[in-house]
Amino acid sequence: HLDTRVPPVGSGELGQLSTSFNRMAQALEVAEAAQRRLVASVAHELRTPLSNLLGYLEALQDGVLPPSRELFASLHDEAQLQRRILDDLQDLTLAESGHLTYRRVDFDLCDLVEAARVAHLAVAEAAGVRLTAEVAGPLPVHGDQDRLRQVLGNLVTNALRYTDAGGAVVLRAFPEEGRSVVEVEDTGCGIEPADLPFVFQRFWRADPARDRATGGSGLGLTIARQIVLDHDGTIDASSTPGVGSTFRVTL
Ligand code: ADP
Repeated sequence: HLDTRVPPVGSGELGQLSTSFNRMAQALEVAEAAQRRLVASVAHELRTPLSNLLGYLEALQDGVLPPSRELFASLHDEAQLQRRILDDLQDLTLAESGHLTYRRVDFDLCDLVEAARVAHLAVAEAAGVRLTAEVAGPLPVHGDQDRLRQVLGNLVTNALRYTDAGGAVVLRAFPEEGRSVVEVEDTGCGIEPADLPFVFQRFWRADPARDRATGGSGLGLTIARQIVLDHDGTIDASSTPGVGSTFRVTL
């Protein structure tokens, strides 16, 4: 805890100086508290996959669990989740401090949407979810293709992750009032209205237990939002529990 505040000293120039000094000290305290919260969440997030990994390894060592293909797959999954959390965290730190570098080019957003659909076909098929795209282009945009692909990939991955077999995910790209819009609509579990404002917050999950099983880091949407903001765009979500969700990016 920083204890840098000075007692206020009257109303003259010195008084103003002490007031603004105390304001800065308060801002530092807020930033320090945010950093402490972040470190605490990271430690918390990494602890579960790490404990699982150690548990498997000890069971293997003690002969409680025989070595099997499934066991090694579980070990791999837990290690991979830790790496994903760390990779996402690095992206997020860079993005939030304005140090994520963007290589901006002119391209057609429709191509990116079509590519995202093709890239996720195998996952969709494995999940038993129909994945289609409706694009009305061309939609010329100026931006970083890789980073915007990451945004779309996150939205499509989430849509597939939170939609049961037999459901559908539709990607849409269309122009609106001179801007380019991409929508990812799913027929999944949806998000409670009370939860909706929190989906873009770091490490926020509707149901941590369930979501952990799906292998998410809880950082995907936070990073996606930062990338979209860095493109002077907007991202928002609408949802009806039990019916589905729509995530919408406007560039
Ligand atoms: P995660 O890696 O856990 O998916 P995200 O930041 O991408 O993290 O998403 C945060 C949370 O928002 C998810 O854990 C989930 O609870 C909710 N969520 C995101 N997308 C959807 C969706 N399409 N349908 C239902 N819930 C969603």
